[in-house]
Amino acid sequence: MIYDLIIIGSGPAGLAAAIYAARAELQFVVLEKDGISGGQVLQTYEVNNYPGFKNISGYDLATSFRDHAESLGSNFVSFEVSSITRERDKTFHIKGEDGSEYVSRSVIACTGAAHKKLDIPGEEELTGSGVSYCATCDGAFFKNKTVAVVGGGDTAFEDALYLSRLCEKVYIVHRRSLFRAAGSLVSLARRAENIEFLTDMVPKEIVGTDGVVSSLTLKSVRTGTESSIDVSGVFIAIGMTPNSELFSQITECNKEGFIITSSDCSTQMPGLYAAGDVRTKDLRQIVTAVADGAVAVSSLVKYLSE
Ligand code: NAP
Repeated sequence: MIYDLIIIGSGPAGLAAAIYAARAELQFVVLEKDGISGGQVLQTYEVNNYPGFKNISGYDLATSFRDHAESLGSNFVSFEVSSITRERDKTFHIKGEDGSEYVSRSVIACTGAAHKKLDIPGEEELTGSGVSYCATCDGAFFKNKTVAVVGGGDTAFEDALYLSRLCEKVYIVHRRSLFRAAGSLVSLARRAENIEFLTDMVPKEIVGTDGVVSSLTLKSVRTGTESSIDVSGVFIAIGMTPNSELFSQITECNKEGFIITSSDCSTQMPGLYAAGDVRTKDLRQIVTAVADGAVAVSSLVKYLSE
């Protein structure tokens, strides 16, 4: 069978694309790597900037997106894509590890992004033993303990605020004294009594004792002096790397690996669209990922009819 559309990935962008594809009555399927929808949103404790919901858990928001897509007849398949090619007849051939294949006239890449690493000693060895990339997943292990959150963006501040409700003390370690995070999050963190800011500092090493994190070594970017803080956990929130490898063979990505797209979410390969965090854009939020899903479907409907 040749589908009109294959959606790869089922975070907010993929789920919104599924809703719009169903409404456009396309023959389509959503391929999801581990059979779980929601992407990064599932790891978000509280979402309070998605219109219509003053406060909703990431899990509930993702579940309602999925329910909505399913209610319109979207078909979700657990399938790990190993390669994508575009053939002379302009169809896309999407192969899985087991050799099975989907064929489609268009594709939307909704594969999102993965956590960046600090690449410092101790990080890899102590991951899962005090080093974490997901405060909402692992925060409960650090109840009444002292932890550090590394980063100065929205994720770092959301993580720090979440952890401050569980932990005795939270350090926010940032390499500058200005933050990328929304002003409202920074104000909340400044008001929290158990959050301490360590700015102009870069992590040098995560130290473990008996196989679990015991301290974090920091270096001042101003003076070069090294210091150490005693912590049981280090939460790393320094941004994301796009999951674009599959597509870099068939379209252009920028130097950070984000798929280059036009404002209609089309890529440089006709029939291939990208939506959500995996594409080049100024603002990576749930609301913009959802908008991308809708825009991509609207653009590819025109492409399919040409
Ligand atoms: P981000 O905005 O890219 O911030 C990454 C932070 O980590 C920056 O402060 C950066 O410092 C720092 N950093 C990067 N590499 C580092 C390194 N090697 N060592 C030390 N620090 C390093 O990433 P994010 O916070 O994950 O957010 C990603 C996107 O998702 C953003 O667009 C954000 O707005 C969005 N987001 C939205 C929500 C929401 O709407 N509720 C929640 C979370 C995230 P510099 O500032 O010095 O570069």
